[in-house]
Amino acid sequence: MFDYIIVGAGFVGSTLAERLASQLNKKVLIIEQRNHIGGNAYDCYDEHGVLIHQYGPHIFHTRSKEVWDYLSQFTDWRTYQHEVLGLIDGHKVPVPFNLNSLHQLFPSSLANRLEEKLIGHFGYNVKVPILKLREVSDSDLQYLAQYVYEKVFLNYTVKQWGVKPEELDPTVTGRVPVYISRDNRYFQDVYQGMPSHGYTKMFERMLAHPNIKVMLNTDYKELMAVDTEAQLITFMNQPFEGKLIYTGPIDYFFDYKFGKLPYRSLRFQFEHWKDDLVQDVGTVNYNNNYNFTRMTEFKHLTGQKVDGSTTVKEFSQDYVPGQNDAYYPIKNDGNLELYKKYKRLGDSIEPVIFAGRLAEYQYFDMDAVVARALGLFNQLYGDVI
Ligand code: FAD
Ligand code: UDP
Repeated sequence: MFDYIIVGAGFVGSTLAERLASQLNKKVLIIEQRNHIGGNAYDCYDEHGVLIHQYGPHIFHTRSKEVWDYLSQFTDWRTYQHEVLGLIDGHKVPVPFNLNSLHQLFPSSLANRLEEKLIGHFGYNVKVPILKLREVSDSDLQYLAQYVYEKVFLNYTVKQWGVKPEELDPTVTGRVPVYISRDNRYFQDVYQGMPSHGYTKMFERMLAHPNIKVMLNTDYKELMAVDTEAQLITFMNQPFEGKLIYTGPIDYFFDYKFGKLPYRSLRFQFEHWKDDLVQDVGTVNYNNNYNFTRMTEFKHLTGQKVDGSTTVKEFSQDYVPGQNDAYYPIKNDGNLELYKKYKRLGDSIEPVIFAGRLAEYQYFDMDAVVARALGLFNQLYGDVI
């Protein structure tokens, strides 16, 4: 009956389902364990009528025209440039740490000297990962690097990941480099915005094709079994001849046979306020205070006009399968080695394709997983369409 079964209705699953149905006229079943589509980008209205992101704040940004044009078939966009303030030494200053942050925190003579040295050493409009900045030999810049490391990165990273910045793959803290610029935006990508009517509406349009069926509230293992040795898939106890696209955690797929891949999970605390707005910007990072990492106010992101406002605080926690959700793969050498064992096994199972943040154990942003799904589709069927 189905040519494809896709596990997971997030960005990867929905993009591939849409392409397969609309471009190749394939029949697709999506099996999703949650009671909604959209994966972690799912949004909905809370009891006060405020549009919230149930799994934490999601801001869309990309440099890829292909990804932007693709999603634009299913949504209009509200122009939105995300800004973040970090609470450092009692001041709320721009994050990523930039020249404006520098001048807000240091006396002007010192700030001017540091600015001149930063520009002289690296140039203007340059992004420098904190772990790179710490390698400079100049004593003034070393002092600045140590200050930023301690005040912006150290405690936040320990709260978020349970380890220090240098114990993680450098690309993790490299996502938020020191920015030698006056640009206060969190991202500089050419395309940035929020789906005008929310992410879930966009997903509904992606999945509206009559060839796509979605089964919610179902773990695929309730209906399917994969015999890895025999390369055999069964669906409802019958052999399934089509392809399986799997976007869930790869270690779960293989019943944790090599051990559990570590992830970070989050607990979200939503709060409703009578005020129209309670923060100056979309997100405030509590780098050194409190036991949550950041607080986001949705109305800044969505521009929604509604009485009152809802915010979310993010508390990081260990991931415990079956008890909470896996959100962030923990990138370090040991974990990537373990992932590679699963990947090698996954690659050997011809009828199964693994794709997405959890299936590939990658810290992918939304645009990256859409690019991955479109790339995969072109790789498999580029010559057919
Ligand atoms: P997911 O969205 O996780 O979808 C996988 C789906 O598979 C889920 O719906 C899951 O329920 C389902 N599934 C898993 N196992 C099974 C099973 N056994 N049976 C059935 N279904 C199953 N990216 C950005 O670009 N900008 C942001 O601002 C941003 N903010 C983020 C904030 C947070 C707190 C987090 C955690 C992530 C953020 N991201 C952001 C990343 C973004 O969420 C991911 O890039 C994107 O959701 C990945 O899509 P995916 O399809 O790979 O996975
Ligand atoms: N980070 C930090 N301080 C900040 C912002 C980020 O230490 O004020 C580090 C932290 O380790 C975080 C990583 O940089 O996990 C990536 O931050 P980003 O905002 O990209 O995280 P995400 O939005 O993916 O949770």
